[in-house]
Amino acid sequence: MRSKIVAGNWKMNLSQTEAKALCKEVNKLNIGSEIEVYIFPPMLYASDCKAISTRVKVGAQNAHPKDQGAFTGEVSMWQLKEAGMDAVLIGHSERREYFQEDNALLKQKLDSALAHGIRPFFCCGEPLGIRQDNSFLSYVKNQLEESVFHLSAAEFEKVVLAYEPIWAIGTGQTASTEQAEEMHAAIRSWVGEKYGKETAEKTSILYGGSCNPSNAQALFACENVDGGLIGGASLKAADFSVLVAEGTWTILN
Ligand code: PEP
Repeated sequence: MRSKIVAGNWKMNLSQTEAKALCKEVNKLNIGSEIEVYIFPPMLYASDCKAISTRVKVGAQNAHPKDQGAFTGEVSMWQLKEAGMDAVLIGHSERREYFQEDNALLKQKLDSALAHGIRPFFCCGEPLGIRQDNSFLSYVKNQLEESVFHLSAAEFEKVVLAYEPIWAIGTGQTASTEQAEEMHAAIRSWVGEKYGKETAEKTSILYGGSCNPSNAQALFACENVDGGLIGGASLKAADFSVLVAEGTWTILN
């Protein structure tokens, strides 16, 4: 059975004091063995959060594909591993848009994360124009083909996929359950075509985009939605705890 995962992407928010306080709150949540919880704090606080977290896994929001070298301002997957990081976000739409990260670069990042034993959370999703002109399925399929589907089945099974329609991120305009389920089912079918049904059934595919306590239950209950990658609602322990509870509820019911 595939894992249910609820993950918080804190982006470039919070002071160090606030981050440590939030991390302590998240670590106190009642997290059953049925669910995996990850947080992705700003890199500067990631080691603090790792030291606090006993039940929650901690990841980086980005990393460079090269191990070491003259890349001012960057941090590598190799360095993440030594710092005890569990995971890394790859292909978040903000990295694609503001830092011009393309499918070829994301492929290198994925390879590097896997080579160093860091679990990649690979984000895909279409902008509004692509949703409106109805080419969103082929757009997302192409993202996966160009960055992910070169992996062997053994490598692929370590990857978490996150479908994050760009028009839903931080906008309050959440995808409907029908829209989310259509895309998640399509992603699972492409994974099945590439790696076989058994691998497809084991793949965790998270939804991200204005997911919050009022819509999480419906989204997480969709057959092919295996939890969420949460931005804004992960910055408040009370909201995040509801999302973790909703994720757990969908497994137990
Ligand atoms: C995100 O940035 O990954 C995200 C899903 O953000 P939000 O939940 O704020 O839309």
